Order: sequence, then C-alpha cells, then structure tokens
Amino acid sequence: MKKIRIRNSSEEYTIEKIVCIGKNYAEHAKELGGEVPKKPLIFLKPSSAVIYSRGKVIKPSFTKNLHHEAELVLLIGKTIKNADLKESKDAIIGYGVGLDMTLRDVQNELKQKGNPWTISKCFDTSAVLSDFILKKDYELNLEEEIILTVNGNVKQRAELNTMMVKPVELVKYISSLMTLEEGDLIFTGTPAGVSKVEPGDKLTARISGVGELECEIA
Ligand code: ZN
Repeated sequence: MKKIRIRNSSEEYTIEKIVCIGKNYAEHAKELGGEVPKKPLIFLKPSSAVIYSRGKVIKPSFTKNLHHEAELVLLIGKTIKNADLKESKDAIIGYGVGLDMTLRDVQNELKQKGNPWTISKCFDTSAVLSDFILKKDYELNLEEEIILTVNGNVKQRAELNTMMVKPVELVKYISSLMTLEEGDLIFTGTPAGVSKVEPGDKLTARISGVGELECEIA
C-alpha cells in the first residue's frame, strides 16, 4: 500500500482512492477544445499509479502523446457522505502538489468512442505526489500560484483561485456522489498549458506554501 508523506510530521496516511477532477480551469477546458462543464467532471486513479518526487514517470509503449497536468491535491482525513460546506472544509486535512500524467492520444480516442478514460489516466507512475503539508501547519488561501516547468521552462502557471469549483465545494459535491474516507486524495484539476513530454525531460511542479515535486520522464 502506498503512503502519503507528510512534511514536518511522523503521521502516515495510507492512500485510498484517488478522485480526479477534469476541466476545472476554464482556460484549460478551452485548450482541450471542449466545452466548460456545468458540473465537475470526475474520474478515478488507482493508488498503484502513485510515485513520489524524484521518481521516474515511465512513458507507456502504447502512447505517442504523454502530457503533464500539475494540480493541487487535497488529503481527506475523515469519513463524510452528503457533507455540508463546514463538514467538507473540516474533512480536508492537508494539501500537496500532484501530477496527473495523461495519455492525451489514448484519451482522445476513448472520448471519441464514448468510452471511459481509464486507460489514459491509470497507468503505473501516472500520479506523482509531493510531500503533503497538514492544514494545521498551512492554511490555503487560494492566492497561491501553481507552476510547472519542463527542463526549466514554465509551461503552466496560474493562481489557484482561477479554479472554477473551489476545493471545499469540490469535496461537498464528491461527497454527494460517493463516501469520502481518510486517506482519499482529490486532484483538483489542471490549469492551461498542458504539453507533450518525452523521455529525458525533467519536470518540476510547485505551489508556493504547499510543496514541490520533481521527476524525470523515462
Ligand atoms: Zn488532471
């Protein structure tokens, strides 16, 4: 089982389900050519896909278009279902930075056929995680910037408050669809600037105050 690494803490959380949000930044929804969704778009990743900072993302043989998606990740610390806003806020106990690595060509093909995105999102090493910071050590104010670089060049840069559905509202909405439990992670969507990466590329992602990660494509 994979664990969450917590900064300045010996506390450990086993990673349970990983819930991901699609198209939560308007500019990114536009760059993908689709409509801005009326409700958050939800999919899952398995915890087996997780690697940590300084790990290697292994590009699968069945893609020609591996993309990075830098995202704020929420750590859930208690069981909630049909939560209200206060319960949703209280259920978020920490924050991290994540990469939702995506096989864009495979995803586009699946979308066209009306099939689930699973294969494009669930491959081994497709979820890269920074160390997490607990909310008691850092309270997010959404004025933080998320920045992703490839070989030192900035590709994605946005303030978190340009997210369409904010973290607490996301947790509330997801809890109306499925029970959230301790150790669940929520990838909150990526801003514009996603791009193709190739073996040898070095990626960094950071959110000021929250954390940072680095990884290499292999
Ligand atoms: Zn994503």
